[in-house]
Amino acid sequence: MFKYLFFRAFAKPFGYLPTSMLRFLSGQKFIVPLFHTVSDVPLLHLKHIYEPIRVAKFRKDIDFFLQNYRPTHINKLLNGSVLKEKEPHFLLTFDDGMSELYNIIMPILQEKGVPATVFLNAEFVDNKSLFYRHKVSLLIEKWQNMQPSLALQNEIQALFLAEKLPFTTFAQTLIEETQHKHIPLIDALGEKLEVDFANYLVKQKPYLSLAQIHEMQQKGFTFGAHSLSHPQYSHVSLEEQLRQTQACIEFVLKYVPNSPKVFAFPFTDFEVSKDFFSYFQQKYPLDFTFGCAGLKKSEYSTHIQRIECEKGDYSMKSIINTEHIFYMLSALIGKNKVLR
Ligand SMILES: [Zn+2]
Repeated sequence: MFKYLFFRAFAKPFGYLPTSMLRFLSGQKFIVPLFHTVSDVPLLHLKHIYEPIRVAKFRKDIDFFLQNYRPTHINKLLNGSVLKEKEPHFLLTFDDGMSELYNIIMPILQEKGVPATVFLNAEFVDNKSLFYRHKVSLLIEKWQNMQPSLALQNEIQALFLAEKLPFTTFAQTLIEETQHKHIPLIDALGEKLEVDFANYLVKQKPYLSLAQIHEMQQKGFTFGAHSLSHPQYSHVSLEEQLRQTQACIEFVLKYVPNSPKVFAFPFTDFEVSKDFFSYFQQKYPLDFTFGCAGLKKSEYSTHIQRIECEKGDYSMKSIINTEHIFYMLSALIGKNKVLR
């Protein structure tokens, strides 16, 4: 929360400072930006949860990275070479396996010569099922475009109450209060409001197909795991965290052969315990894991924090400069490292 307020207050003025100077002062030469998708048309499954950046903005963002960093391939992180480089480097990553990666993002990255790593959710690949947050967006869209009867409103309020969810407004409750464990409730709301999630998957195809993934792999993209169904790990048991992670890695290894064993935490790695990391160091070793806490050190040499890059109209220079400054300020009070 503090970082969010800090960003809102200072990102724009920090955007006027030279990135090279801040990078030198922070000593952080390697960055891992994180995106989800890019679109110029409204996507109803995202509309009420976040706004994807537009194509022109994405092109500018990539140009900023190319002017200030060299692009790198994940293989150079896996063999350790990029961390020894004198020149600054960036490793581009995308989460959730959205279909615009194939249609919009791949052509731009190929034109600019930038490799990328995409983290997939096994259950979404081939549009087999819809991420519960994407369902939430579709439900809110429907709700805002209908005149629900008083009877229906009461019925829905009762459904929320039965799940002990505080009812503020339909949209606010769904966005702020629902978790992975509320998927049955979300599906029940889909039936009540006649939002056909299965039909949406068939018509809209929000996620990459395996055929698209294979073609992207041929063109130099790398794929990793992002859990089976995208729960927030701090909300599920350790056992479930291990299952979601290992089964998704197995899925990627089976269906996207020659992929590295890399995993990006769904939502955040916040409050994920040491036990999780020990399991994946000792019992089922992974090559690398990724969080999204911004520019920050980790106590594990194979765990890296990424920088979230979808922040509305803020320029990439503002976003990256603010990360460097926040890192330096946190270092002053010894808070530039994630501790578990
Ligand atoms: Zn995700």
